[in-house]
Amino acid sequence: MEESASAQIEFRKVTKMYGSVAAVTDFSLAVGRGEFLTILGPSGSGKTTALMMLAGFEAPTKGDILISGMSVAAVPSYGRDQGIVFQNYALFPHLTVRRNLEFPLEMRGVKASERVALVERMLKRVHLGAFGERMPSQLSGGQQQRVALARALIADPPVLLLDEPLGALDRNLREQMQGEIKSLHREFGKTTICVTHDQEEALTLSDRIVVMRGGQIEQLDTPEALYGRPANRFVANFLGEANILDDPELGYHKKDRPGTVPMIRPERVRIAAGNAVQPADQDQRQIVSGIVEEMIYAGPLRKYQVRVGRTSLIVREHVASGQEIFKPGDTVRLDWFRADVRSLSE
Ligand code: ADP
Ligand code: MG
Repeated sequence: MEESASAQIEFRKVTKMYGSVAAVTDFSLAVGRGEFLTILGPSGSGKTTALMMLAGFEAPTKGDILISGMSVAAVPSYGRDQGIVFQNYALFPHLTVRRNLEFPLEMRGVKASERVALVERMLKRVHLGAFGERMPSQLSGGQQQRVALARALIADPPVLLLDEPLGALDRNLREQMQGEIKSLHREFGKTTICVTHDQEEALTLSDRIVVMRGGQIEQLDTPEALYGRPANRFVANFLGEANILDDPELGYHKKDRPGTVPMIRPERVRIAAGNAVQPADQDQRQIVSGIVEEMIYAGPLRKYQVRVGRTSLIVREHVASGQEIFKPGDTVRLDWFRADVRSLSE
């Protein structure tokens, strides 16, 4: 592989069996230095298992894992020099915040006088300068998670591993922490591998995303490419909403391209009154007539469900002033650029 030479982390055909259950199968991946890579997939797809093997808490049944070009098969977890953050914080509950941060430094034999300065600086960096003497139980969820991030980063490991780091936080806090993780990544430039089932988190944070299902990689690409050019139906549905256009009434026939289905994203479909004038560029568009089944108002977005023949299509539009609003039962015209239709494998 071309990539391998500069890869910081590499999985080579890694399989992990638990008895007869394959948690991860034939998993190959190369992560570049400084890259933020997310492993995304539904629960049980093998994400944590992949991360645990990289961290050294589980051993592959087959295949190999390399860090900076060297196999780590014989290297125990504590020898791998990685900062790790788990969903359930895993701070030492009986130690103050300060002592939690000092711990990884002690493990590496950093002198006491240096430790104090490093801890001080890191506490400030994660906006917890005044919280050093608190116990973890005296902090909010978001604060605890910032301590966990600080602790993972403080000994300056080249690699950072995050397993569902924001899973326990509520929505607002999650968004705030996404910003925090992004800014820490920009500042420290650690090669980061993050595991999540949350597509929005993956899209927001990552340079590249690996989508997993049943222990295998479905697709590996940048967030934009995954959303804009999903390889198959699973990826299209997992990252956002997808209209499958498998219906002659919509102008598409399965037999046109066997083994594939046409798909259009809801924001690429335009909605207009049933009697609206035809668009000037109608030769480039697919135009159908339908009946509104549902209108859902969601802040900046309006979402319609529109029945066309046997298919219910989702249309998403940004709310703008002067826009015509349709209600259930209205006859509407939908249209989309044929060039925006993606062909997915089933
Ligand atoms: P995810 O993190 O994507 O939710 P996991 O990696 O935890 O998925 O699990 C993948 C599969 O491996 C699941 O079917 C799970 O039940 C199984 N599995 C994970 N850990 C163990 C274990 N220690 N013993 C047996 N089966 C396990
Ligand atoms: Mg998991």
